[in-house]
Order: sequence, then C-alpha cells, then structure tokens
Amino acid sequence: MRKSNLFLPVLKENPKEAEIISHRLMLRAGMIRQQSAGIYSWLPIGLKVLNKINDIIRQEQNRAGANEILMPTIQSADLWRESGRYEDYGKEMLRIEDRHERDMLFGPTNEEMVTDIFRGYVKSYKDLPLNLYHIQWKFRDEVRPRFGVMRSREFLMKDGYSFDVDADSARNSYRRMFVSYLRTFKRLGLQAIPMAADTGPIGGDLSHEFIILARTGESEVFTDKRILDLPTPPSDVDYSEDLSQWVDQWTAYHAVTDEIYEEAAFHENVEEEQRLQERGIEVGHIFYFGTKYSEPMGAKVAGPDGKEVPVHMGSYGIGPSRLAAALIEANHDDDGMIWPTIVAPFEAGVICLNIKDDDARQKSTEIYETLLGQNIDVLLDDTSERPGGKFAAMDLIGVPYQIIIGPKGLAKGEVEVKIRKTGEKIILAPDEVVNFVADKIQQDLQLI
Ligand code: ATP
Ligand code: MG
Repeated sequence: MRKSNLFLPVLKENPKEAEIISHRLMLRAGMIRQQSAGIYSWLPIGLKVLNKINDIIRQEQNRAGANEILMPTIQSADLWRESGRYEDYGKEMLRIEDRHERDMLFGPTNEEMVTDIFRGYVKSYKDLPLNLYHIQWKFRDEVRPRFGVMRSREFLMKDGYSFDVDADSARNSYRRMFVSYLRTFKRLGLQAIPMAADTGPIGGDLSHEFIILARTGESEVFTDKRILDLPTPPSDVDYSEDLSQWVDQWTAYHAVTDEIYEEAAFHENVEEEQRLQERGIEVGHIFYFGTKYSEPMGAKVAGPDGKEVPVHMGSYGIGPSRLAAALIEANHDDDGMIWPTIVAPFEAGVICLNIKDDDARQKSTEIYETLLGQNIDVLLDDTSERPGGKFAAMDLIGVPYQIIIGPKGLAKGEVEVKIRKTGEKIILAPDEVVNFVADKIQQDLQLI
C-alpha cells in the first residue's frame, strides 16, 4: 500500500473522551470511528488488524476440527421462545419488529440458531462429534458501553458450538477448544490465563474464562504465578488424542476472577509468595452446558443402541474486536502501538525521506516492490510530508520494521532499518535490506 492512497485519518489532538490507552490510540491512529454509543466503524488499518486477528482464530479453529459457517445477525424471536431465553435475556437484547409485525432480534449469541441448524440435518451419533463456528457481529445493549471496542454494543465474536452424543465425548470437545484457545492467544503474542468461571445465564457445569493481565482490565484476578510459566500446546498437537494432560496442567493452579473469588480458598490453595492479584481483560469464554438447548429444542440423535438422545453441547467465544484493543493495552509505548508482526496493520514500512530526490524515490519504490513481491504487507510512505511526521506516523501505527531511505544515506551506500519494538537502528547496504527484513518477518511469523 502507498501512503498517498491510504485513508489514515490521524488525529492531532489526544481524544479526551477516551479513558484508556487502547481507545485513545485507536481513535488517534484512525483505526475506528464511533458512530453512536458503543457502535463503531472500522477504518482501513483497524480493519486490517481485525482481519489478521480473525485469520489466526480461524486457523486454530480449523486445526482443531471446527467448521466455519456464517449465520445471520438478525434472528427470529420464535427460536428464542423455544429455548425460553426470549424473556430471560432482558434489556441487553435488541428487539426488532419487522413489517409483518413479527418479532425479530439482533443476535447477542447463537446457541438457538445453531441448534436449529443442527437438528435440521444431523440424526445419528455417527455424525458426531461436530463443531460449528462463525465470526459474526453481535449486539448487546450494554448498560455501560465504554473503553471503545473493548466493551461496545456492537462487537465481533467468534462463537463456536460443539455437539456430542454424551457428556464424556462433550468433555473431549471442550478440551479441544481449551487447547485451541491456548494456542490462539499465544500466537497472537498474548499471555492468556484460563480461569474457572461462573456459567452465568448460558448455564451448565463447566466453564473457563481466558483472561489477559492488564492494569486497565475490568476483572480482578487471583492466581498462582506459576501458571505464567506453563508451556503452550505445539502446532502438531493431536486433536484426535486425549487432551486431558494439557487441560489438567493448565487447570492445576488456582486461578479465579472476582466473580467467584473467596479469600479463604485463595490463601489455602496458593502459598503467599506465589500469589498474584491483578487486573485482567476477558478475551475468551468457553462453556459446557449439556442438554440445556438440545432438550427444549428437540435436537436429538440416534445413539449406538438406536435410542434417541438429546445432544450434549458446549459453546466457545472469543472477541476479536475486544482483542484488537487488548493487544494495544499489552503492546504500546509513549509513541504509539507496538504490534506483534502477526497482527500488525503492515509488517514493514518504507519511508522515503525526500520524495523529490530521484535516487531516494527510485530506491524506495524498488525496495517496496521487492518486498511486495515476497508477499510482505508493506506500506510505502511516498508522501511529501516532513521526515518527523513520517517517523511519528509509522511509530503511532506500530509498523514493526521501518526502512528509512534518504538521499544522504544513499550517497554513502546506506539505508537504515528501525525495529519498532526495541528502538534498535541498523545500518545496511540498500541491497541487503530486503533479505534482512524478510528474514525477521519470517521468524516472527513462524508457526509456534
Ligand atoms: P463480559 O463479562 O466482558 O461482559 P461476557 O461474559 O458477557 O463478557 P461472553 O458471552 O462470554 O461475554 O462472550 C464471549 C467473548 O465475546 C468475550 O470473552 C469477549 O471477548 C467478547 N465480548 C463480550 N461482550 C463484549 C462487548 N460488549 N464488547 C466487545 N467484546 C465483547
Ligand atoms: Mg464471559
């Protein structure tokens, strides 16, 4: 992408309405724009980050055997009447009436709809286990939308649903998602801690919230520090095998949020020097809830003995739009965002210091084109802005590798590469720079 074509409406002033750093930076860098309370447009670089987050989630869902589908945002109230949640859900549900006076709603979640899809097709235990997910906008009329896309009314969610013939098999499906979530957050460069959670209005008896530690988080977390050193399941983890080892290892330490915290239990289970009490952001939440929906909605399969049984279900949510903000909370400095390469709006940037200088312009364009040719997502600053403004913009949007090309350097056979994360500056010959940057990016993107 050439910066001369990029819609990057950077704000000069610090937006006063934003209380937390991620919200401030997202507004300042022109990633999002508020349209009404808790409802945002995603502008080019915001959308690029969001899509990259979705890609990682997708890869790890597919690896774990889940199928991507896409369900609509608008749902019929009748489905929710079948499960009994139409009345229960309360004011967070945005209710709509269509021209035929039929009750509709903007989906806050999709348990009912996915159960309806399932019951329409699947009749035998032989087709199980099955896991269906989608990445779709949700609407919840939150009482206090705040912190930008961290707690918005319209937000993106990856919600997945598992179907199994019995509770044992459903627990295996739960473990697959547990492991897939550990991998997803790790690949995004986040340290997410699974915490035993209350099952809330979704119901059921097994649930974990995935929380990342951050001072601005809305939850208070109480955990054993040793959980921070546990290994992540590798990319070749075998999802067809029993994954209990991983889940047991990650649930062995005490880790709870304020929702179910009890001081006595914390003190009893965690030695004083291992205690960690901090704030955190919920980025994912998984549940096993048995036959809560399949029973009232008649989602049944024939079991091995030919008898019909209601399927056992689980649901698995991740918030990509909240994650975009959470990633900034975890990675920024005074100059702006510091994206991990895997989700950065651009993997590399080329700054041409003086676009009127033929050598500088030609060299910059050539390096830019070569990087593009290697499938590197690169931004060429080909504008006539001053160098200071160009540096500031690259740092603000958090481009990990910045190649700086000017007439003076070129005369000496030199270009500079700046590494955003460390501030390190490396002088290279112009013909070394592509390989240097491409190698760094390849290392960063290596599958873990
Ligand atoms: P919270 O406790 O933060 O209100 P929740 O428990 O209501 O969230 P879930 O139903 O578990 O949320 O949703 C799954 C995921 O969707 C959450 O872990 C979070 O990442 C995301 N999410 C939920 N509500 C919002 C919101 N209002 N804005 C942005 N993301 C959200
Ligand atoms: Mg939750």
